[in-house]
Amino acid sequence: MEKYFDVAVIGGGAVGCAIARELCRYELAVVLLEKESDVGRGASGRNSAVVHAGFNNPPGSLAARLCVEGCAGFAAACRELAVPYRRSGKLVVALAPEDQPVLERLLAQGQANGVPELALWTPRQARAREPRLDSRGALWSGATGLTNPLLYTIALAENALANGAEIWLNFPVDAVARAGEGFILRAGERSLRAAWIVNAAGLYADRVAALAGDSAYRVYPCRGEYLVLDKQAAALLSTPVYPAPRPGVGGLGVHLTPTVDGNILIGPSAEYIDSRADTGTTAAVMTRLWEEAMRLLPALAQSRVIAAYAGLRSKIIPAGEQNFADFIVEHSRAVPGLINLVGVESPGLTASLPLARRVIRLLDEKMRLKAKPDFQPERKREGEFRFLPPKRRRAAAAADPAAREIVCRCETVTRREILTALNNPLGARALNAVKARSRAMTGRCQGGYCQRRVVAIMMEEYGIRSEDISLNGPESWLFTGAMK
Ligand SMILES: Cc1cc2nc3c(=O)[nH]c(=O)nc-3n(C[C@H](O)[C@H](O)[C@H](O)COP(=O)(O)OP(=O)(O)OC[C@H]3O[C@@H](n4cnc5c(N)ncnc54)[C@H](O)[C@@H]3O)c2cc1C
Repeated sequence: MEKYFDVAVIGGGAVGCAIARELCRYELAVVLLEKESDVGRGASGRNSAVVHAGFNNPPGSLAARLCVEGCAGFAAACRELAVPYRRSGKLVVALAPEDQPVLERLLAQGQANGVPELALWTPRQARAREPRLDSRGALWSGATGLTNPLLYTIALAENALANGAEIWLNFPVDAVARAGEGFILRAGERSLRAAWIVNAAGLYADRVAALAGDSAYRVYPCRGEYLVLDKQAAALLSTPVYPAPRPGVGGLGVHLTPTVDGNILIGPSAEYIDSRADTGTTAAVMTRLWEEAMRLLPALAQSRVIAAYAGLRSKIIPAGEQNFADFIVEHSRAVPGLINLVGVESPGLTASLPLARRVIRLLDEKMRLKAKPDFQPERKREGEFRFLPPKRRRAAAAADPAAREIVCRCETVTRREILTALNNPLGARALNAVKARSRAMTGRCQGGYCQRRVVAIMMEEYGIRSEDISLNGPESWLFTGAMK
């Protein structure tokens, strides 16, 4: 007999993990189902990492309202979940005379949305904030922030787990059948029963809805590529800088974003593609990204580029149609017991917790949720060794031999931090799971120095062979054997 849950959430992105975590505030048996070997492997781990203030979306839209709400609560959520957050502010800059009215329109839109701390700045004011920036003026947003979206998603999932939810990784839901009032969900040979399904499958939300019998949606992948600059470049910029958006761009335009980890991101591009799995980066777009970045910050040096990646937006309007499409969060009209979240593109990271609360309201309409008195919103996490002041570093090293050994030199990651990442509560065991949690292999050398060391620790700690180590779970094996 299959295991029974009150709610099965499909999709371990920021939105699905936020929903699972918020559901744990109630007396419910909750399971989160994720097809990949870890959470955060979709758009949630591949974006600009900006906590948007809420001036980009039309007044009255769900996206605008939930973004403003999400931004207002993001710092507190990050404190609870022990996730990095920095209130960076943001500049949207005018580079040509025709950009000025665009900034004025954004200001008016932001004010209508209730966004705090917005102001039009002269070129001089913008330069006082970012001395290397050459602009004709800017829109300043003081409420905009930055986070680490992968750690945020992982933290939500871990907090859900700590509060009683089950997280089933490597569970690609491939069939949904009606069973009485509820459903049977299958992934190959494995199955479970659930009274309710919350479909938070991002790019695959239309397919998951269709599996359950609802064919009302269509999602179109739109790829955004990025370049990552090393920490030397970070001295050039401390505030995210966006160009005034131009019609037809399909995103917010190529911007420069300093990250909470000390890098700078350049991107994203916006290109509709056919495949939902193609997160490859391309030479042509890399060149274009660089040209766009130079318009904003000519002091950048190309030698500082250390990596590239891409994320896929889940658009619900096809290429060529430039109308805004709002988030869809609703009870399925075709399938009772199914709640769909579709078209959750930017600012879905910022709005993830408000989206989760909206799902709770939809559920509460149907089944009177009962609060769980012992819900624990806080997640404990040791501070990163690299951010500790020298005195605390010395104390940590004196108390623990594993804190004395630096495994990743670029990011100053200790053996203790690798071990902690390996023994993560979700049980994610691929090399990229260690990378996401520890930041080993993300620095200037991109693992040239530390990957071999991390692999050796994985073999020792898990008692496995190198051939058993994958990049992202089954079918991404890294090694065929040892040379010596
Ligand atoms: C280029 C880009 C830049 C962005 N920048 C920002 C930003 O700066 N700020 C911001 O607020 N937002 C930003 N966003 C938007 C934000 O990233 C998304 O709105 C958010 O991550 C969506 O989260 P999600 O959980 O809905 O989707 P995802 O993170 O894609 O998660 C969906 C999950 O469902 C899983 N799944 C799919 N099918 C199945 C199945 N059959 N069975 C089990 N699991 C399944 C997938 O593996 C995936 O893990 C950006 C997005 C992109 C692409």
